Amino acid sequence: MSKRYNTLNEELRREFGGKVMKLSLDGGFTCPNRDGKVGTKGCIFCSEEGSGEFAGSRLVSLEEQVKEQKKLLSKKWDTDKYIIYFQNFTNTYGTIEKLKRLYYDAIDIEGVVGLAIATRPDCLGEETLELLSKLNKETYLWVELGLQTIHEKSARFIRRGYPLFIYDEAIKNLKDRNIKVVTHIILGLPDESKEEMLDTVKYVGNTNTWGIKLHSLYIQRDTDLFDYYMKNPFSIMSREEYIVLVADAIELLPKDMVIHRVTGDGKKELLYEPKWTLDKLRVLSMLDKELKLRNSHQGKNKIENF
Ligand code: SF4
Repeated sequence: MSKRYNTLNEELRREFGGKVMKLSLDGGFTCPNRDGKVGTKGCIFCSEEGSGEFAGSRLVSLEEQVKEQKKLLSKKWDTDKYIIYFQNFTNTYGTIEKLKRLYYDAIDIEGVVGLAIATRPDCLGEETLELLSKLNKETYLWVELGLQTIHEKSARFIRRGYPLFIYDEAIKNLKDRNIKVVTHIILGLPDESKEEMLDTVKYVGNTNTWGIKLHSLYIQRDTDLFDYYMKNPFSIMSREEYIVLVADAIELLPKDMVIHRVTGDGKKELLYEPKWTLDKLRVLSMLDKELKLRNSHQGKNKIENF
């Protein structure tokens, strides 16, 4: 690998023999943590767009969204292979008929080689799992779960709305069906020590699932986290502190786990803090330098059975 960690880009190149572009689409869902089934306010960091700022618009058809996204991204990448990513809100929260239609419509679009579905672990009932299992045999599928932290105090603070064992059950159910899983975690939640953050990393590493997304906590103006921060400012990691933490995290992860993301991705117009997250390339290059300086790589400090 050209990086010292296993990136999604390289994984997809290996799998498909060339660049694959991810197109973020809006499947028209809401979330049980917003509509009252689990909660009404949503996760504290969740924006009005359901944590999917770069997705297409739900007001237009899937084909139209694909067209728009391709246009946007084609300036950057020249490829005819795509993965449809249902990113914002909870993309398994609907009737089985809706899910079936949406997923199959998506994989039928020309050039689509796979499907990524972001959801909550408490929205994976038996019927949905069976549908995903069938899809998994027909396309390159992965399911993304927003865990964020293994610590109960932080789960309460972020208003995640489900306990850790629900995540464990979802992992088991998806693994039993050979479905690839990507877990999202947030580094930098207030009141979490570095050790606690790395405990979450180790926990996810030990699920032996396919992938992970590391997000740096960022505060967007259109979130409750912003209001909280205004009243109770908490310390935010500097870029340098974050780089050291992510390098430590990468060393702890299994070496074949696919690292989809190593930093946050807020919207420039809405981002309040930390501003350094806007310069993603700088974060990536500083991380490369840090790992090189340590002569280190993914999996170097992997601990079994945390
Ligand atoms: S589960 Fe996702 S969509 Fe729902 S409130 Fe939390 S971050 Fe937002």
